[in-house]
Amino acid sequence: MEFSDLGLSPEVLRAIDDAGYKTPTPIQEQAIPIIFMGRDVLGCAQTGTGKTASFTLPMIDMLAAGRARARMPRSLILEPTRELATQVAESFERYGKHHKLNMALLIGGESFADQLKKLDRGVDVLVATPGRLLDLFERGKILLSDTKILVIDEADRMLDMGFIPDVERIVSMLPKLRQTLFFSATMPPEIKRLADAFLMNPKEISVSPPTSPAAMVIQHLAVIDELDKREALRHLLRAESVRSALIFCNRKRDVDILQRSLAKHKFDAAALHGDMAQAKRTETLDRFRAGAVKILVASDVAARGLDVIGLTHVFNFDVPIHAEDYIHRIGRTGRAGREGLSYTLATPDDGAFVTAIERLIGKAIPRIDVEGLPSVEFAASDGRPRRGRHTARREEPRARRPRRIPEAPAASARPAQHAPEPQPAIAPAPAPQPAPRHVNAGRPRPVERQATTPRPAPTPASKPAPMVETEPVGSVVAFGEHMPAFLRRPVPKPRPTENDAA
Ligand code: AMP
Repeated sequence: MEFSDLGLSPEVLRAIDDAGYKTPTPIQEQAIPIIFMGRDVLGCAQTGTGKTASFTLPMIDMLAAGRARARMPRSLILEPTRELATQVAESFERYGKHHKLNMALLIGGESFADQLKKLDRGVDVLVATPGRLLDLFERGKILLSDTKILVIDEADRMLDMGFIPDVERIVSMLPKLRQTLFFSATMPPEIKRLADAFLMNPKEISVSPPTSPAAMVIQHLAVIDELDKREALRHLLRAESVRSALIFCNRKRDVDILQRSLAKHKFDAAALHGDMAQAKRTETLDRFRAGAVKILVASDVAARGLDVIGLTHVFNFDVPIHAEDYIHRIGRTGRAGREGLSYTLATPDDGAFVTAIERLIGKAIPRIDVEGLPSVEFAASDGRPRRGRHTARREEPRARRPRRIPEAPAASARPAQHAPEPQPAIAPAPAPQPAPRHVNAGRPRPVERQATTPRPAPTPASKPAPMVETEPVGSVVAFGEHMPAFLRRPVPKPRPTENDAA
């Protein structure tokens, strides 16, 4: 199918041509004609599928006729994050460049005055995050009674981020007679319930998660001790010809910690996460896009939908908890026909998360050893991901361990011996994964796993230590056999005080 078969105007077709798109993606093929018919859409698709263009292209043509009134937007697109909202607004500008539509972007952290000025002029398209939109509504600066097209994008992210009550409030302020386009990467029951409430006789469109970006990404996974992760990352960053890299952490706090650690080791790294001021987020992203900073340490939320041309590497400093996030993260590289490399650092506790990812992608991620660091096995588990334990471990202060003597470096790449055999759940692998390659042959480099050091499963560290020890203890979990002498000293019972007596 061609774009010209979809009923788009010559102006939009010209903009598509300028963008260099040759053929519509599956979601575009399916959604565009339905949207033109004025029907509601329930789209199960995630970023990377061409979803944004699937709703922006027809909307541009539908809004081309008619004029907006001051403070009464004609269409509304709700996005969970500021970055996504900004990207959608940029798409509107790109695809609508041969039209004269007014667009406003309402996101937190930006000046109210500028946003209000735009609203006063009348906007055809309003792209907003729920919080800022409600804020303006409550100040009486905006009216949604003329909004005839509503797009709720990334609904499952909205749920994760606790925005659903805000979204429900916003929808209740819109006219009942409207067209609603609802997109979500997954359809858990809460999202289905919302879709049922917001949509009228929708056309359901489902496209499989994007496997094409991943097809251009050469993937690697190292299973190492939690305490070796930073060293492993530094080693990989030095060993690879990294031109531009994204490093993902699961938690915002870890983003900052890791960025500071990398900067201390003289890596050109910036941080990006949802707690940063918007001006700083925008500035950091712009610098990263322009190549002024080489490494961006980010959380999923901040990096969602990020489209950076020429990104060579993605590192998962943490294994993502949601398997789909893995595809999304590594899909930031290997775009537009270019090859990309991804490295995932897993710890013994991450076995179930890795299994879920390998099921989703339909193949095992080739294992590597990181030179100089011992590889470990996944801890035996009941197969269920342990989110709480995963997080709790990191909350604990990190005890320093005596440094291990590095193992002799392995010489050459060999296929992984230890990769589990996952059952393809969504789609079978289209082609066997090429053997991991290492870009920088002359420098220290990650090596294919040759031998692993079996180690006992970690002892659960959740039991609180007794407050008062009267007997010297044999060993302390965090210190293993290397417990400092002062910890073996008996601690005398505190003397009763006056208060105790009272
Ligand atoms: P999205 O899923 O909307 O985040 O889009 C992912 C990427 O695909 C963006 O970089 C778009 O510019 C690009 N894209 C969208 N539609 C097409 C298409 N028909 N052909 C090629 N690239 C596309």
